[in-house]
Amino acid sequence: MSSNKKPSKRKRPDDLKGTIARIWRYLSIQKGWLFLVIVMVVFSSGFSLLGPYLTSVAIDNYLVPGKLEGLPLILGLLVAVYVLQSAATFFQNFWMIGIAQKTVYRMRKDLFHHLHRLPIPFFDKKTHGELMSRLTNDIENVSRTLNSSVIQIFSSVLTLIGTVGLMLWLSPLLTLITFTIIPLMFLGMKWITNRTGHYFKEQQRNLGEMNSVIEETLSGQQIIKSFSQEKRVLTQLDEKNEALRASGFWAMTYSGFIPKLMNVLNNVSFLLIAAAGGLLSLKGLVSIGVIVAFIQYSRLFTRPLNDLANQFNTILSAVAGAERVFNILDEKEERPDEGDAVSLQQVKGKVAFRNVSFGYEKDGATLTNLSFEAKAGESVAIIGPTGAGKTTIVNLLMRFYELNGGTIEVDDHDVTKVKRESLRQNMGFVLQDTFLFNGTVRENIRYGRLDATDEEVEEAARVANAHTFISRLSEGYDTVLNQDGGGISYGQRQLLSIARAVLADPAILILDEATSSIDTRTEIQIQKALWSLMEGRTSFIIAHRLNTIQRADQIIALDQGKIIEKGTHEQLLEQKGYLWGQVGT
Ligand code: ADP
Repeated sequence: MSSNKKPSKRKRPDDLKGTIARIWRYLSIQKGWLFLVIVMVVFSSGFSLLGPYLTSVAIDNYLVPGKLEGLPLILGLLVAVYVLQSAATFFQNFWMIGIAQKTVYRMRKDLFHHLHRLPIPFFDKKTHGELMSRLTNDIENVSRTLNSSVIQIFSSVLTLIGTVGLMLWLSPLLTLITFTIIPLMFLGMKWITNRTGHYFKEQQRNLGEMNSVIEETLSGQQIIKSFSQEKRVLTQLDEKNEALRASGFWAMTYSGFIPKLMNVLNNVSFLLIAAAGGLLSLKGLVSIGVIVAFIQYSRLFTRPLNDLANQFNTILSAVAGAERVFNILDEKEERPDEGDAVSLQQVKGKVAFRNVSFGYEKDGATLTNLSFEAKAGESVAIIGPTGAGKTTIVNLLMRFYELNGGTIEVDDHDVTKVKRESLRQNMGFVLQDTFLFNGTVRENIRYGRLDATDEEVEEAARVANAHTFISRLSEGYDTVLNQDGGGISYGQRQLLSIARAVLADPAILILDEATSSIDTRTEIQIQKALWSLMEGRTSFIIAHRLNTIQRADQIIALDQGKIIEKGTHEQLLEQKGYLWGQVGT
């Protein structure tokens, strides 16, 4: 179903300013802590600038003139400066990590809550892999960037300004000489980042594609095995794996050049300062202390430039990740119930479709002008070829999608004027593909009505003919099931879902009859359970078995989204139409 939808992995946000403003809205909840972090960054950058200056003072004022008695004081000062710098750095990181984690915690929370309020069509359009990737990778990316990059950028800018200022103040001439390497640095960095950017993008894209394949492989294991497609899937995975390896290799290799380049340039600038400084000091234009300070400052100066260039891409990709998260948050929620929406009281179960038209796509016509009525307590079998629109009728009844035209009424109330929760509470589902949660048999049945007592759960299981097989399980009602229903058969899963519906006791039932073969004994049990469940309820059955169709009060035959026949079994047989053709009489 989802194979043709690939996760999009943009590295650059579409709306940089808007997205940053939205991240700021999350961050600004912790303004006080942010302020403290900024204070710490100012301190740590300031102290890191003070160190080399104090060294130059120590050399020029104490070492060179031989005033050794003053030296301990200035050395003590130096030690204090470095200790304070470490402390400030520690707190800036510690507090920023706290802020970052709280921020992404809030984002995740908003995202979870929002996902639960999104309408079904949204989930039709997105792959699980893509949603998972937003919930995990994208948010993780934002978290990592907030943890370190934000501080780093701020402290890099401060250090850069401070260093340049101090260098100019100490010796404008030496500063100019040091700056000659800047163009070299920019050229080198540009060459590298162009390539790393390309390969990092590739790497992200390949990672997304591989995750998509892995996700499908895991959830489709049975299909893959039953069609003996292991080889094809493995080849596909191998290809993605290889692509990921290649892009990862080049991304890492090129980004590994950055520190090497910086090292070379640092050495070049060391050489320049030493040579030019030496010459200038011979002429008495600069002191030895200033040269030593310059060598340290030139390092302080290249590092932030390097960091800024590095962080730029990281930040862009995190902002793009945040934008993807915000895009989901901006998805329209299920339209809220109208202000005057009513709650259904004591539903009898009369259901009417009046000229209902609907398409999954805006201009599509999955159902056209459908009208039928089910009296309270009636059973309606819906038949027709695959793709005729049987499941769609059921989806519309649950209000998973909005109609293009016509109305659906329950007990003469237009369902758009009924609170969704109240509508869904009065409807029960028994689907072919029973969804089981990780939990015990008891918990799985209780999902039908959370406040049911253990006795009620067992009673429901008896009505559903499930009690006997449950009692034979190793732990009875306490046997733990997993999502795939491991340990129990397909038919038994259906019995559990019938028990769930019995417990929920809805006025309207929706049944999707199993098409796959189940052993005759379980089949009879299921049939019996279903008919006793349907007693006194309005039921819609997507029917595949003749037996079911014969017993239904009403049959609706669909083809290509239109009703082609409607009536009782006898009536339809007399018409000698679709049903007559199907049963082959
Ligand atoms: P049936 O249950 O009779 O086999 P469905 O009601 O599932 O048929 O489908 C009716 C038509 O609507 C089919 O052509 C199907 O491809 C299309 N369809 C079903 N579900 C979706 C969906 N979520 N998005 C788009 N088209 C869909």
